[in-house]
Amino acid sequence: MKTIGLTGGIGSGKSTVSKILATLGAHIIDADIVGHEIYLPGKAAWKQVTEAFGREIVAGDQTIDRKKLGAIVFSSPDVLARLNAIVHPIMFEEIRQRIQAKRAEGFPAPIVVEAAILIEANWLPLADTVWVVEADKDTAIRRVAEQRGMSAADAEARIANQLSNGERRKHAQVVIHNNGSLQALEQQIQQAWDQLGE
Ligand code: ATP
Repeated sequence: MKTIGLTGGIGSGKSTVSKILATLGAHIIDADIVGHEIYLPGKAAWKQVTEAFGREIVAGDQTIDRKKLGAIVFSSPDVLARLNAIVHPIMFEEIRQRIQAKRAEGFPAPIVVEAAILIEANWLPLADTVWVVEADKDTAIRRVAEQRGMSAADAEARIANQLSNGERRKHAQVVIHNNGSLQALEQQIQQAWDQLGE
């Protein structure tokens, strides 16, 4: 049974697609949630990240202060790359183990790995098939503005920092077009789901 790698740009509709896939019976692994969990005290990334970036990023309750860490790493692409080099392989291994554990307990349906950075973080080997969700830039910006109140300038800066839809598409077995209604999205997901195979 397949593992679907689900990716796409900011506001493209990944979480919405995951919710639809969950209603069809898939198990969802959200890389954002895994990313938060590995930073907890005692977890895999905690030691390596605090060793690399210093005790000043540790809050009073021993958790990593993500705001402080963010301020350090977003100051320079090299520093961010250093953090990613630590964290991305740890997340890969964590997600791999979660997939394996779900299969070991006999879960019979597809598993979805929802990850904005599936391609950038070199996590493609986790997936048997890659689904890319695409929305036009203006549509994505409008949606994240409505949903989170993110300014158009911030959303645009994020988009400029991510892979383009064209680059993502090179890795995709399925491209989901999400400029229309939720109903149109559901129809595409149902169709791709029906064609998944074993
Ligand atoms: P991010 O990468 O920023 O987490 P995402 O790719 O997960 O975003 P979603 O959160 O699924 O994107 O979608 C962004 C917003 O757009 C949400 O508020 C969602 O409800 C809305 N949305 C997604 N698809 C549609 C659609 N087809 N019609 C209307 N609203 C939509």
